[in-house]
Amino acid sequence: MTTTTPVPLRTAQPSRQVRRAQTRKARRAAARSTPQAQNRALAEHILDAAAAKAAAAAQASTLAKAQLAEAEVQAWLKDMDARLEVIFAHPERNLGEIEEQLAVAVKEPLRLLAQRAAQVKANAVACQCPECHTQLSQQRYLSRIICSRFGPLTIWRRYGWCPRCGQWHFPADYALGLGHKAPASPYLQEISALLVSKMPAEQAVLVAERLGLDLSRCGLHQEAHRQGLKAQEWRAQFVAQLDTWEQIQQLASAATEGPPAQPFTLVIEIDAWDIRERDDWGKTQELREQGKKPERWHWVYMATVFRLDHRGQTAGKRAVIPQRGYAATRLGLEALSAQLYREALARGLGQAQLVLVIADGALWIWNLAEDRFPDARQRLDLFHAEEHLWAVAHDLYGHGTPEAQAWVAPLLQQIRDDQTLAVIASLTELKPRLLEAQQKKIQTQIGYFQDNAPRMKYKEVLQARKACEEGKATEQQKQLANHPVGSGAIESACRQYQCRFKRTGQFWTTSGDEALMCLETLWRNGRWAQLYPHARSSSALN
Ligand SMILES: [Zn+2]
Repeated sequence: MTTTTPVPLRTAQPSRQVRRAQTRKARRAAARSTPQAQNRALAEHILDAAAAKAAAAAQASTLAKAQLAEAEVQAWLKDMDARLEVIFAHPERNLGEIEEQLAVAVKEPLRLLAQRAAQVKANAVACQCPECHTQLSQQRYLSRIICSRFGPLTIWRRYGWCPRCGQWHFPADYALGLGHKAPASPYLQEISALLVSKMPAEQAVLVAERLGLDLSRCGLHQEAHRQGLKAQEWRAQFVAQLDTWEQIQQLASAATEGPPAQPFTLVIEIDAWDIRERDDWGKTQELREQGKKPERWHWVYMATVFRLDHRGQTAGKRAVIPQRGYAATRLGLEALSAQLYREALARGLGQAQLVLVIADGALWIWNLAEDRFPDARQRLDLFHAEEHLWAVAHDLYGHGTPEAQAWVAPLLQQIRDDQTLAVIASLTELKPRLLEAQQKKIQTQIGYFQDNAPRMKYKEVLQARKACEEGKATEQQKQLANHPVGSGAIESACRQYQCRFKRTGQFWTTSGDEALMCLETLWRNGRWAQLYPHARSSSALN
């Protein structure tokens, strides 16, 4: 049996009823068009809206339990069923589709629950000044929309005026961990910080979206910057624990409590790389006219510190150091020195049997080492030392020639045998036979080896490694074989930071790069949860 839809009758003239309705509508429109009528309509609208708001505030402020109504739970289950049915009906939709659809289905019930839970929290907060704890006067309610992990949450907060501080306060905002004006929830604050310290903000928004997080309304770059400033504040307090001698003593001995540890070596590696900044932006022409060069590249000082006994190997025989401390800053050598020293103390400086500083030949590094770690053993990175000899070889005999190779080979061996003085003697002997320009170059290299000779001790480590390979190593040699002769750990760390901070076309401001670098370092140092206590419950940070 088939049913037929009735075809509407078409008439040339509207019916009498329709005509009457049209006349009434026209009269009403005419009445609204007078200014008085307009004012009346507007007032009614405002009163209606205010009443709706008051009702919403009243309802929210009495909420004492966060739960889903039975009907909401049922609606969710039904929705989930429907989504799964569609997937089951299509053989080509795989587990990915199931993951995706279930995550979508659960978002709304979680959003409602999060909104209600946040409201319950907000309701429990006393309406006192968070600074002086005075009862706030002129209390009233205002709602705000927070971007959360589950979507936008509307939260009503009581606020009031502190007569003592002369300020309006929203105590619930403090209690919930919300920023003054920024919409991000604490979780989204954290995610903004994490993503933007790893990748440019415009990419981060898209990655987050794919992971089911809407960061588009969070002002991602600004949010990450705010978080970076928070990280800097935390770091300043951390480093300020070095302000008194008593505090330093306390920190140094902190780790000695409990069972005595095996003697260990603490390795410190230091280096620097340069970053492009937007200072004097737009003044290039002006500066050039004054004969000045617009300075755009600045040093980022970095260091890493780790215990040798914490170094391990991956299944693929790659060296890994799971517990490593980092310091990185654009704020100058003093800042690096303090950060590094604090980090070294946290990593066992006070207990180490031996402290080993490894770096290239830069003078500032060795000054810093003398200043902060006067008892440390200093070692020049072997690779840098060899590079300096290769530079001479190439200069004398040309790049990659067999002659250069033949000349440099015995000298490289001398370096590995701790015979730096013999190398210096060879170079000095060579000097009078060269042209003036070459003499100057070779003198620079002689100076380099003279300055660094005390730091060029590789023989015992290399011999220990050889003995290990041959299975003839003594216990002491087994320990020694582990000692690094190069500063590869800091060089790879520098490269990793540069992957984020030195992308094509990237310019930074000092405040911008320092804030993000501080976040990155906090993450690497395993101190993320200091800034985001909620992250402690994540297995990734435990
Ligand atoms: Zn106050």
